[in-house]
Amino acid sequence: MSEVDYDLVIIGGGPAGLTAGLYAARSRLNVVLIEKAALGGQVIISDWVENYPGFPEGINGFELMQRMADQAKRFDLVIETKEVISLELTEPVKKIHLNDRTVTAHTIIIATGASPRKLGIPGEDIFSGKGVSFCATCDGPFYKDRIVAAVGGGDTAVKESLFLTKFARKVYLIHRRDTLRAAKILQERAIENNKIEFLWDSVVTRINGGLTNVESLTVKNVKTHETHTLPVDGCFIWVGTDPNTTFLKNAVKLDKSGFVVVDATMETSVPGVYAAGDIRNPLCRQIVTAVGDAAMAVYSAEHYLEKIKG
Ligand code: NAP
Repeated sequence: MSEVDYDLVIIGGGPAGLTAGLYAARSRLNVVLIEKAALGGQVIISDWVENYPGFPEGINGFELMQRMADQAKRFDLVIETKEVISLELTEPVKKIHLNDRTVTAHTIIIATGASPRKLGIPGEDIFSGKGVSFCATCDGPFYKDRIVAAVGGGDTAVKESLFLTKFARKVYLIHRRDTLRAAKILQERAIENNKIEFLWDSVVTRINGGLTNVESLTVKNVKTHETHTLPVDGCFIWVGTDPNTTFLKNAVKLDKSGFVVVDATMETSVPGVYAAGDIRNPLCRQIVTAVGDAAMAVYSAEHYLEKIKG
């Protein structure tokens, strides 16, 4: 056993990864959390989180994640800023290939979450960072008294459109159907907000602009098939998320949408390898569900370790 570097390697430092880190460090496992970028995951771009229990007034996403990281570090969780390139899971001792070395572990928790989905339309990539954005907290303040569009009909699109109205003069909310998927309370707030104008049954087919900025969108009504040009200064895209699984390369079983398949104990198709949070396609994708997954994954990993170590 002594030649194995870790009991547990946690990959990803969002709500699931940090919670797994907290539980594992408190259980005094020999654990490391590996995150390639900033800690906190997608939540850090959320201006206000108001459905995480214990914060009756709500809390800024960045601050919430800072608190989660501080809590895990209080129990001496070791965190390394490294990129996981691939996993080798064919033997009981798993190999985690990092950008600078390989480490070994008895168990792994995959908590790499998901990234904003793209529309895949002309202009989306070339204007990214020049008027096309996936983050209202980061870029919203640039649009003071200007006109922006938001694409999507889920919680993110509606919630972030409401946030954009703090800055923008007008927000067009463009949705491909005539009913929103977002929670009713968010729908009510958006409908009551006179800065938001809905473009129903509509899709953006092209983002147009000059050399350095967005000037308009080509919008198509999916029922009438009519197309028109909508002048805007910016376009925010919130059409869901895709799992961050490039390093997995089929090391564990994925579902048809590319999310990691787990059982009720959060175990993947490989014994001793678990997944938690948005990477596993839960029906309800929330911070509370991610942290719940993580607690379960650590509990399962501890049982697995007890079994193999006798
Ligand atoms: P989502 O719920 O998957 O919604 C994606 C939206 O984008 C849907 O309205 C979908 O339309 C639309 N869409 C997808 N692909 C599109 C395309 N190619 N072109 C145009 N529109 C497209 O994603 P989300 O809003 O990011 O939310 C993800 C999860 O996080 C959800 O579980 C949500 O509840 C949760 N969340 C919660 C909060 C909160 O405050 N509680 C905040 C943010 C996110 P259709 O409706 O037609 O499918």
